[in-house]
Amino acid sequence: MKPTGPIPDWFAEEDGMLLIGGCGALSLIDEAGDTPLFVYDMGIVRATVDRLRAAMPEGLDIHYAIKANPYAPLLGRMVGLVDGFDVASAGELDAALKAGMRADAISFAGPGKRDAELRAAIQAGVTINLESEGEAERALRIGAEIAARPRLAVRVNPDFDLKGSGMKMGGGAKPFGVDADRAAALARRVIASGAEWRGWHIFAGSQALNPGSLIEAQAQTLALAARLSEDVGASPPIINLGGGFGVAYFPGDMPLDPRPVGVALEEALENRPSILKNTHFAIELGRFLVAESGVYLTRVIDVKDSHGERFAVVDGGLHHQLAASGNFGTVVRRNYPIAVANRFGRPVSAEPVSVVGCLCTPLDRLGDKVVLPPIEVGDVIALFLAGAYGASASPAAFLGHDPARELLLD
Ligand SMILES: *Cc1c(COP(=O)(O)O)cnc(C)c1O
Repeated sequence: MKPTGPIPDWFAEEDGMLLIGGCGALSLIDEAGDTPLFVYDMGIVRATVDRLRAAMPEGLDIHYAIKANPYAPLLGRMVGLVDGFDVASAGELDAALKAGMRADAISFAGPGKRDAELRAAIQAGVTINLESEGEAERALRIGAEIAARPRLAVRVNPDFDLKGSGMKMGGGAKPFGVDADRAAALARRVIASGAEWRGWHIFAGSQALNPGSLIEAQAQTLALAARLSEDVGASPPIINLGGGFGVAYFPGDMPLDPRPVGVALEEALENRPSILKNTHFAIELGRFLVAESGVYLTRVIDVKDSHGERFAVVDGGLHHQLAASGNFGTVVRRNYPIAVANRFGRPVSAEPVSVVGCLCTPLDRLGDKVVLPPIEVGDVIALFLAGAYGASASPAAFLGHDPARELLLD
């Protein structure tokens, strides 16, 4: 038997049926037509954003990094909830604009932006977070060609990283941003070119659950931004402080409490160096805003035994929910929170069961030797924390099954 991550507190049951947004899981499947199905509960997203806003200093903008979940109906709701979107491709830029986000509240980061993507961003008037000197020169040339004034921020590869983070994005040699010791020179170049310099983007890492790590990274980010701004000799209009707020996916993980982070940030902002007095600040979060809202529902097709171990084979798998299989940014495979949706809260079986997907690869394991109520063919398995890096971050074409359905609850 192996432990599973904690099921988020939002989910209740009625007569043994998992409720999502107050609706029974099986009736949601009926509504959507079939399994496999992602259900996203906007009520949870709204409550999460509210809780975050209450914790963060007044005036701090909250941006949504839409790669976490770009499902169009969800993006449309996010427009009214957050202050800006962060995109990382022309496709995401298009999705952000179609959702109704204002161009001047969109920033575009990501290495390897093509000329056509830079052109689309400049034309739309979104802020480009420059990833290199070469990209800056291309953006300036394209701006001149189309007679538009590019809005350019400099993404800095910080000389520190986010401690305890699952995915390090700063510190040392990285494909992201410009090394801190060359960032001021690039900002000066942008200003001298006549483009609109929008400030700094400093993203130090992802998936931190320890408030202390986030507090330390934010303090270091502020100090670095102040130092660079002094070096440039100009006040940055905006500083994007990055994000990194994590989600409790695994056994032993404690959900992140954003309140101490907000208290420390408020104090740091109150005492910020004078060159940042008129600067506007933002954080950019993906998974923290949406992960808990999502449940992946997949039906049991077969139950079988092999060498004394029990397997439940489901109609979904890693082609929809790669992260739960342990193949998306984790070194050691651990179990996501999992349940039998139609036996939610029922007594568990003495024998562990491995929940495996329908793909013909041993990688396709959604629950490894987990303890669940006795499973029968036709039961529905629920995998939690499926609201971020699920459908859009999984190899949907692998093995030729249909994509998962998606359903948004308001
Ligand atoms: C992916 C990404 C995010 C979102 O990361 P989460 O871990 O989902 O919060 C934010 N900013 C940048 C620059 C990113 O690349």
